[in-house]
Amino acid sequence: MTVRKIDAMHKYYGYGSGRCENCPHFRRKVFDRTYHKCLVYGDSNSEATDWRCGYTACGLIDKPFPEDEIRIVKRIERGKVDDGPLPGQIAMEI
Ligand code: SF4
Repeated sequence: MTVRKIDAMHKYYGYGSGRCENCPHFRRKVFDRTYHKCLVYGDSNSEATDWRCGYTACGLIDKPFPEDEIRIVKRIERGKVDDGPLPGQIAMEI
C-alpha cells in the first residue's frame, strides 16, 4: 500500500479543518502550467512535491511555519550540493 504525501502530513501534524488551498503554507507556482506545493512538505521542481488544493488540511493550517522541524523534503538548488547538517542535527568531524 502506498502512503500518500498528505498522509505523512496528517501523521506528523494531525488533521486540521478546511482544505490545503486555504493554508498559508500552500503555494501556487505558475509556469507553463500551475503547480501546487506545500512549503512544509517541501518545494522542489519535482512532481514528487506536487500538492492538491483539495487535500484535507493538516494541523498546521492555522499554525506558523515550523522552522525547527525538519522538512520531509528539502529543496536544494540545481547544481549545488547541500552537505551541511540538517536543522537540529549536529556536525561531526570524521
Ligand atoms: S501545511 Fe498547509 S498545505 Fe501543507 S499539508 Fe498542512 S494544511 Fe496542507
